[in-house]
Amino acid sequence: MKFPDNFLWGAATSSHQVEGDNKNNDWWDWESHGKTKDPSKKACDQYNLFKNDFKLAGDLNHNAHRFSLEWSRIEPEEGIFDKEALRHYKEVIKGLRGLNIEPIVTLNHFTLPLWFYKRGGWTAKGSDRLFAAFVEKAVRELGEEVKYWITLNEPIIYIFSSYIDGTWPPGERSFKKAPSVFLNLLKAHCLAYNAIHKIYSENKWSPPKVSISKHILVFTPCRKTSVLDTLTTSMRYYYFNTLFIRSLIHGWCLAPGAPIVRLPRKKSLDFIGLNYYTRDFVHYAGIVPPKIFGDVCTHIHHEDTGKRNFLKWEIYPQGIYSVLKEYSAYRLPILITENGICTNDDTERADFIKSHLREVARALADGVDVFGYLYWSLIDNFEWAHGYGPRFGLIEVDYATQRRSIKPSARVYSDIIKRNSV
Ligand code: BGC
Repeated sequence: MKFPDNFLWGAATSSHQVEGDNKNNDWWDWESHGKTKDPSKKACDQYNLFKNDFKLAGDLNHNAHRFSLEWSRIEPEEGIFDKEALRHYKEVIKGLRGLNIEPIVTLNHFTLPLWFYKRGGWTAKGSDRLFAAFVEKAVRELGEEVKYWITLNEPIIYIFSSYIDGTWPPGERSFKKAPSVFLNLLKAHCLAYNAIHKIYSENKWSPPKVSISKHILVFTPCRKTSVLDTLTTSMRYYYFNTLFIRSLIHGWCLAPGAPIVRLPRKKSLDFIGLNYYTRDFVHYAGIVPPKIFGDVCTHIHHEDTGKRNFLKWEIYPQGIYSVLKEYSAYRLPILITENGICTNDDTERADFIKSHLREVARALADGVDVFGYLYWSLIDNFEWAHGYGPRFGLIEVDYATQRRSIKPSARVYSDIIKRNSV
């Protein structure tokens, strides 16, 4: 099964999960209150070791790499931009370009600068404009060498974890705040989208490609014969998979200061960034929020593949085919910005990559416009509330010594890239 020429092949990371010492953001504060299994501390020290890690990616034939800018480093205080941090990210981008690796740059991968967090984070009025100001600065400084931008990573996962089930900072369970965060994120993306395009056109740089990374799950009712399970699954599906992306596709963006600006169709996304990991079996759990979205079955469902990763997520390769088919309805090119497995058994990782890529190839054969695949993650890293237990990396990290070791699955992936076929 062949992939198209110029297909983007690589892996992804995010600043807080790999850089280390990101002391000026909400997660560092959250960790210091003992809210995660481990604190991130030095993480993978990638802030210092990026050249080494990129070299390994290049040796493994990667031609693309997704990473994120740490907003709290670039703008440590409101309106104050740190030259050294900007210089660093310029080096990072130059480092990738020097290895013929296409940089795919995320502007916000969950973490927030403390000053922004203390003002109410994404609940605050004007948070969209504060984000857009950061984006403008970063893009003016770094844009010349970048073609692909991801404004926000997984907005719905963020809202759910931070404002509905409260396991991420600020740990709220507020059905009142969640909708305002939703709107602010939507506006933030649209402002950023417009700002990026404007900067590129002012500078006469080739037009950029801008999107978000949207986490998509496959949802199945636990009991297909139960009307309540089916309705709950549809609610969950609509909230998790559809609402945000549809709002962008239909241009339901609100302009700063107000009247609804209906951006022309498709003009707030140039492609779709898609993150896929697993399938959930969902059952009815009540109607009071957040129970209205149901609960995930804890017992093993008879349709379950029986294969689970370290975090007990089902391994369901066919799911990537169905989400690709489903999202192709939006008629935009798709980049798989994350897909991966945490496991201590590396043969499972090699099987995961092969089985998921076969499904991607099947979608391509059906005419779905997929232009790249980024495995999560290049190196083992800090997995948010779960700390350092789950290992997603193609490359192992010994956190005590910062030694990197290439796992056999990385070579399997590297061969697939080389052959451009699976
Ligand atoms: C996130 C990553 C995370 C990965 C594995 C994605 O939802 O973007 O930050 O590490 O999933 O859980």
